[in-house]
Amino acid sequence: MTASIVDLEEAVTSLPADARAAADRILAISTTTGRLKPPPQMHEWIQKFFGSVDAVREQRIVRVDNRITFEGALFNELRAFRPIEVKGGDEVRATIASSLNDPFCRPETGTPADIFGRVEGAHGITASNIAKYDGFHGVLVFKEHDPLAPQDAAAIRDHLMTARGWAERALEADPAARYYFLLWNCLWRAGGSIVHGHMQMTVTRGTHYPRIELLRRQALAYDARYGSDYFEDLWLVHNALGLGTESGGVRSIASIVPVKEREILILGRPGADESSLAPAIAKAVAAYRAAGVVSDNRALCGPPLSPDGEDWRRVAPLARLVDRGDPGNRTSDIGAMELYAASVIAADPFRLAEALRA
Ligand SMILES: [Zn+2]
Repeated sequence: MTASIVDLEEAVTSLPADARAAADRILAISTTTGRLKPPPQMHEWIQKFFGSVDAVREQRIVRVDNRITFEGALFNELRAFRPIEVKGGDEVRATIASSLNDPFCRPETGTPADIFGRVEGAHGITASNIAKYDGFHGVLVFKEHDPLAPQDAAAIRDHLMTARGWAERALEADPAARYYFLLWNCLWRAGGSIVHGHMQMTVTRGTHYPRIELLRRQALAYDARYGSDYFEDLWLVHNALGLGTESGGVRSIASIVPVKEREILILGRPGADESSLAPAIAKAVAAYRAAGVVSDNRALCGPPLSPDGEDWRRVAPLARLVDRGDPGNRTSDIGAMELYAASVIAADPFRLAEALRA
């Protein structure tokens, strides 16, 4: 089995026939070498940051495109070999501690309620978001202030069920608002404006949000063209490469076309409730913590809360998680490449897969 993302092209070539065929349908992989000539005056600096001058003279770059979704990633072995070091760890802990006793620590008086009231679980209670993304936009305020406090599968399941309870109350209030989306921006680096642990929920009308509707249509088109299920094939390829892990029918993959560092996709069983993803989400978060990740985005989507007349059979509950990097780093992890071209990735999905299986 391949040890590094820079050998992906060769690894795919040696896959079993069915996985190879699925890879050919979904992926376009190409490898190139970037070259440069460093002046002698730079050698010492290069050695310090990259280990050796030869390491930067020739750099192997792997480009992976998903031909179905048009997501794309560029991996550079030089970036992948850089040591992981979260410099902002102490600052993060100090900031979390200093923000204790914020309004989310007393949600009944510190946050607004929705027009249908609040939904309460064992580990959290809902509030109405004060500046809304959409007609219904709620917050699931955790009873625990510290967003980095460990959460086991039971706590995550409780959060997912409380959030779903909120969505169902919103649907009762507006039967057209049937498209439910759950998100978590953990810490400022990931877009979170409040430190206290919380998720956010929206329900929307008309169609699901465009990226989710696009994924549904792409999966339908894939089935129509190839007579094969897109998500099954995505799993087949990742699992054959050693990038998948499965438990109770729920599949986790370390994506080879990640939106940014260490993206994990968690695919539920078609027709299953998203709370079935809780153990896999708990494992994914544990793998993140082991890798020093403290700031991440998580999102969850699935079929609508009530039938909309469209074909959702190809879409099972889907959770996505992505590492947003060091909160102590002032340089954003995304730039024009990620917004308008393809994602530039340092972390090797093969290392992430090892952590997911641990
Ligand atoms: Zn708090």
